[in-house]
Order: sequence, then C-alpha cells, then structure tokens
Amino acid sequence: MRLSQPHVLIVEDEPAQREVLAYNLEAEGYRTSAAENGEEALMLVAEDKPDVIVLDWMLPNVSGIEVCRQLKMKSETRDVPIIMLSARSEEGDRVRGLETGADDYVVKPYAVSELMARVRTQLRRVRPSAMGQVLMFEDIQLDAETHRVSRAGKPLKLGPTEFRLLSTFMEKPGRVWSREALLDRVWGRDIYVDTRTVDVHVGRLRKVLTQHGHPDPLRTVRGSGYALG
Ligand code: CA
Repeated sequence: MRLSQPHVLIVEDEPAQREVLAYNLEAEGYRTSAAENGEEALMLVAEDKPDVIVLDWMLPNVSGIEVCRQLKMKSETRDVPIIMLSARSEEGDRVRGLETGADDYVVKPYAVSELMARVRTQLRRVRPSAMGQVLMFEDIQLDAETHRVSRAGKPLKLGPTEFRLLSTFMEKPGRVWSREALLDRVWGRDIYVDTRTVDVHVGRLRKVLTQHGHPDPLRTVRGSGYALG
C-alpha cells in the first residue's frame, strides 16, 4: 500500500539539466514530468497539476518569471509551490523572483542535494502524508509511515483505499474534494473507476470513524463532493 507519489514538474530548456533533475527526483521516489519552455509548462500544469514546480528563470520566449506570475495569479494553481532556478545571483533578482510569488529561489550552479532538500521542504508543506508525516485532525491521528490510524487514542482498522482517502482529507481539512479529484488522488489517474465507487469507500471510512459513537467528521457537500470538518 502506498500513497500516490508526489509529482514534481521540471521546467528547464537545457536537456542535460532536465535529465539530471528528473534522475535525482525519481531517485527520491517522486513522479516527474518535464517542460522545455514556458508555454509547455503552463499547458502541463493545466493538464496534470503537480505538487511542486522546479522552474528555470531563463527560458526561451515566456520566461520563468512570467510562468510564475501567471500560475500565482490563478486560484487553481496559486497553491503549487514554485522553486525558481537562476544563474543570476544578484540580490535584486532574488527579491524579484520571490516578489513574483516564487516560494523559494536557488542560484545556479547549485548542489543537487541542496535542491532536493528544498523540494522536500515544499512537499512536506503541501503533501505531508506522502512525506511520511503524522497528521492530526481533532481526535484523529494518522501516521503515514506506519499506516496507523487512531481516534481518541483507540486504534482503527482501515482498508488501503480508506486509508488513502483519510490521508487525502487530513492533508487539507476543510477542503471540498470532488469525486473526480478524489479518484485522481486516491485511485490514480490511469485507473478507470466509477465515481460511485468513491461514495462506497467514503461510506466505509465513515463507518469506521464513527464506531464507538464518535461524531461523523466527514461532510457531504451536495453537488460538490466531500470534506473533512
Ligand atoms: Ca535555461
């Protein structure tokens, strides 16, 4: 049983650099996709939203700064962390990079280990369960590393799908997940599953969470999907 891998998009016009990045990110256990220019990057993000973007500043046509600005303007992509790569080391550029909304800024040439650490930092923020963190919501505790779940101190037995569902909910309490978004995150994009399957598994998850008379922490949002809290 594993949680869906964190997805990192690499935007870099130099093939050799793209390859080094993809190789190292995949060695860390992430799924990668790559774009060689800004237009392609914007298209890929719209198609398959990554968890983190490593974005080169110097790109042909649409610059990295412009890509960053556009992504941070849209509500659907604003929350995707962007790590900007730049050959420029002047302080002014760093400030400009961060002002555009980049979440972090790394100067080339960089040590790969340093960049991997920065990627991990961003992923821990946006995908805590996939990074093995312990998640808490009210009296529910989920340990993504040991796969243990408890409520009010009592262990709960969850099937693999219910476990992935609960970790998804617990990463973003309050967020309303559509059935399609849950399918993508919990079952994966390549598997065909009917959206009604989501309802079945949410039902099972509810049953386990509410045993011993605990209140139901999941909310059905009519016409939209489900939310925790
Ligand atoms: Ca470049």
